[in-house]
Amino acid sequence: MTELTLFEKIVAREIPADIVFEDELCIAFRDIAPQAPLHVLLCPKVPLKMLSETVDGDGELLGHLFLTAPRVARLLGYNDGFRVVVNNGADAGQTVFHLHLHILAGRTFAWPPG
Ligand code: 5GP
Repeated sequence: MTELTLFEKIVAREIPADIVFEDELCIAFRDIAPQAPLHVLLCPKVPLKMLSETVDGDGELLGHLFLTAPRVARLLGYNDGFRVVVNNGADAGQTVFHLHLHILAGRTFAWPPG
């Protein structure tokens, strides 16, 4: 049997997390090593590995994630000043291979990112 991803274990409550939002398709919880006053990870409940492995059939879910990101930010008090990041692949800094959106807010962000 395939080992559950770290984030599937959070969905299943096998490991604890500070969950701030959940619906039938996705879950959002605070990052364990926050890079901003608000740093939440928004994940699909199904284990998509990374953005570049998504297919046309994932469109509805991807749309849902991007519609949910501003709602989660708003829920936590950040209406427009937030950043959404997806690290795709190890070279881009992805360390957990279960697709997730980083939602960051509460400080000024530099561009280009590091
Ligand atoms: P990535 O580097 O894959 O884009 O992002 C993975 C994120 O998951 C990192 O920001 C890291 O701090 C976070 N993370 C890793 N392990 C855990 C954990 O056990 N719990 C939570 N809440 N976040 C984690």
